[in-house]
Amino acid sequence: MSDIDEQELLASVPDKLFIGGRWREASDGATFAVTDPATGATIRTLASGTVDDGRAALDAACDAFPAWSRTPARDRAEILRRAFDLLQERKEQFALLMTLEMGKPLAEARGEVVYGGEFLRWFSEEAAHIGGRYGANPEGTGRMIVSRHPVGPCYLITPWNFPLAMATRKIAPALAAGCTAVVKPASLTPLTTLYFAQLLADAGVPDGVVNVVTTTHSSEVSDAIIADRRLRKLSFTGSTPVGVGLLKKAADNVLRTSMELGGNAPFVVFEDADLDKAVDGAIAAKFRNIGQACTAANRFIVQAGVADDFARRVTERVRGFRSGRGTVEGVTIGPLIDDRAVAKASELVNDAVQRGASLRTGGSAVQGPGTFFEATVLSDVQPGSDLLREEIFGPVLAIVPFETEDEAVALANDTEFGLVSYVYTRDLARGQRMIERLDTGMMGLNVGVVSNAAAPFGGWKQSGLGREGGDEGIAEYLETKYTLTPDPFG
Ligand code: NAD
Repeated sequence: MSDIDEQELLASVPDKLFIGGRWREASDGATFAVTDPATGATIRTLASGTVDDGRAALDAACDAFPAWSRTPARDRAEILRRAFDLLQERKEQFALLMTLEMGKPLAEARGEVVYGGEFLRWFSEEAAHIGGRYGANPEGTGRMIVSRHPVGPCYLITPWNFPLAMATRKIAPALAAGCTAVVKPASLTPLTTLYFAQLLADAGVPDGVVNVVTTTHSSEVSDAIIADRRLRKLSFTGSTPVGVGLLKKAADNVLRTSMELGGNAPFVVFEDADLDKAVDGAIAAKFRNIGQACTAANRFIVQAGVADDFARRVTERVRGFRSGRGTVEGVTIGPLIDDRAVAKASELVNDAVQRGASLRTGGSAVQGPGTFFEATVLSDVQPGSDLLREEIFGPVLAIVPFETEDEAVALANDTEFGLVSYVYTRDLARGQRMIERLDTGMMGLNVGVVSNAAAPFGGWKQSGLGREGGDEGIAEYLETKYTLTPDPFG
């Protein structure tokens, strides 16, 4: 439950494009509706930006760049810190807004405000620590200066599943580095970004440093911005197919790119694991965000001796979930984002069952209103089932048994994705071997959630390029310059 009035909150969210510090209608006056996935009702109608609006936003980011890039790092840091403080004051508003437009239970939305806010705090601290170096070349004939510079105006594209955190994870390091940005949120969940743009302005971010274009013409607007020679960086979080298309377009402009793409996380449980902790970790890794996380465990690879016990225990926990609108006290599972997501979950479950999996609980779409799918557990999922290959992106926990460590490694690595893996074992040496043997950019060793602003978040293989968070996160927005000067004594 929230004490905030939903209608008042929604009415307070800006409904226009944010360009050069001003709120503007779309150049052709077009609008689009944002719906609450728990009810299907329209909750707000917003401006739908055109290609011209996208260019105007890039103009504003380019105009603001010289002054912002020369603003002392300490001043940039303090603005980001003020944004962090304001976010704490507006925590409940942001949480409720995310629940309304995206569907996650309020407790999880509050968790996202904490997580998303940490990027503002972390990068406010990083801003003041952008170093360089000075030293003699090995021959002693000169002095080398290595300096770091903001890369330039950036285009930041975010997905719908973490409307706040995916925005702060890009905007905070960009601003800390001295870059300006055009942000394009997903059209399914744009309200949080607009509300956040207002917060940044209130925190003292100068006009034009952050611009937001909401649109239902993502492809056309993005193509024009990405082709513009003034743009220097593209950072995208979303699905692998869209990321691949954007990378091809970015190549024409030789853009720096960061790609946070899809996942297919294995969650490996060995017989020597603490099963209570493995079950807790499994529930968090699978059902956080209603299974709609790139880090969501997609395949539970469980050693044969404990596979049945594990399946029984997770099924018991899942049967205790309460599904409903995320604003209702006690609800643990909200709706999926839209009809397509429900249809995909249904298809994947049906395919697995037809191929011989046992359905332990759930398995069906729920009658509307709203786009709900039952929390589901499948055991004995057979090789070749679609859900072992594809990102499920829904509340479906699929268990595959294995016998030996080599088999577990082969199953876990049998995917083109490489974002994150989870391993549960009490054997330290085995844990260390798994760190070296699993092809993922991140690993939870006896832990079911790995995200942290101080950590380099990112994937191997088709899960992406680059890292967000940590000191790696700001490096993505910096260029390196090497300068040689003569030996001053020569
Ligand atoms: P999506 O690829 O459909 O959309 C992501 C963003 O790209 C949205 O803003 C969308 O409007 C925009 N977009 C779509 N088509 C476009 C085009 N042709 N040109 C330019 N922009 C376009 O992804 P989604 O459904 O919003 O998000 C879910 C996906 O994101 C999942 O695959 C998930 O794993 C991934 N994801 C990855 C991470 C990560 O850090 N690796 C984090 C969150 C989500």
